[in-house]
Amino acid sequence: MAGMSSTENVVGPIVIVGAGLAAVRAAEELRQSGYDGDLVVVGDEAHLPYDRPPLSKDVVRGENDDTTLRPQEFFDEQRIELRLGSAATRLDREARRLSLADGSEIAYGELIVATGLTPRRIPGLPDLAGVHVLRSIDESRALRAELGAGKRALVVGAGFIGCELAASMRGLGLEVVLVEPQSAPLASVLGEQVGALVGRMHVEAGVDLRAGVGLASLTGEGRVTGAVLSDGTELEVDVVAIGIGSVPVTEWLDDSGIELDNGVVCDEVGRTGDPHVWAIGDVASWRHAAGGHKRVEHWSNAGDQAKILAGALTGTGDSNAPTQVPYFWSDQYDLKIQALGTVSATDDVHVIKDDGRKFVVYYSRGGALTAVVGAGSAGAVMKMRAKIAAGAPIGELLESAPA
Ligand code: FAD
Repeated sequence: MAGMSSTENVVGPIVIVGAGLAAVRAAEELRQSGYDGDLVVVGDEAHLPYDRPPLSKDVVRGENDDTTLRPQEFFDEQRIELRLGSAATRLDREARRLSLADGSEIAYGELIVATGLTPRRIPGLPDLAGVHVLRSIDESRALRAELGAGKRALVVGAGFIGCELAASMRGLGLEVVLVEPQSAPLASVLGEQVGALVGRMHVEAGVDLRAGVGLASLTGEGRVTGAVLSDGTELEVDVVAIGIGSVPVTEWLDDSGIELDNGVVCDEVGRTGDPHVWAIGDVASWRHAAGGHKRVEHWSNAGDQAKILAGALTGTGDSNAPTQVPYFWSDQYDLKIQALGTVSATDDVHVIKDDGRKFVVYYSRGGALTAVVGAGSAGAVMKMRAKIAAGAPIGELLESAPA
């Protein structure tokens, strides 16, 4: 727009590939930063962009079926063109064109990759009905249709999605076996000690938690009826949910020349090696001030990155803006697990409170507070934001922490 001097150097259209949370947040932030040119969001799913956290919670429990992020009118009003139901298949950076599966092509001035993740599969498993992964709303609905009280479920992998599914299934009255090759649920994210506190919650809720064990094979004719675990245990099962992590959706960029290394490699504002190609959200591996690259698979990160990316792309960003303290949550049973800061499984762990169910844990590295994780303890976690941002000395915090 002629009057918008700050963004008039941006040559559109800006095309965002992927139509999930990160794409919507990026589009919103671009408009808010004054970009008034053409804005196109390309998504392979036919649904309006929707929110994923409820998929392992109220949606799979049948308590909610609509997690749409914004109604169609919002996109109309904001002049954000949605091109849904067709995947991007190829990026030609020289010609600045994107190819779609339906045969069409879209020219871009700036391109933002926001294609998210796809669930990791276990190679060699037979293709049987009753075996599920969970990333999309269609997958959540398909799983929900199989969850009835008294059914026997096997959940493979006690990461966030596996733990939340186990909790949702118990809530629906299923018998649940949860297997996890590591020593405790969420051990790779929160560390073993805190993972054990999460594991306790599941055991208390009646989950048959088997740590240190994986899935070896599935049996059944057409439909799954049994599972064999890595320790030789045989189980009869009615439904299986596999939650063993996810991988970035980048094959469509394989021949684009964009650097890919566990996601799309970007600088600290989301720009790739090509100044007109950017990436954001779960698929993006951003350079971090502390050094190295990191991909973050949490909801709040998409919004945090959208603000930074839109500011950098349009030249309206404040490079001195304080960095956001990372945040994520997970709902399991009646407890919300919350993590503020950069949680690392290898940091020192200090249990500040543990009443047998609810807990608060501080994480530190080199004597400085890095993160706070709590279950059912929102106040105790959220009040630590400034201390985490400042890397407050852990010694002093422990002295003043409630017994
Ligand atoms: P996505 O939301 O995955 O969106 C990417 C979109 O791009 C998808 O629609 C995909 O189909 C599409 N796409 C892929 N390839 C192409 C292509 N070639 N062309 C066009 N479109 C394409 N985070 C939390 O902090 N707390 C939680 O409790 C929590 N719960 C979760 C529960 C579940 C079941 C899941 C799956 C995730 C959860 N998350 C949670 C993580 C959070 O939802 C993600 O961080 C967030 O969705 C990331 O947004 P995104 O836009 O990067 O990726």
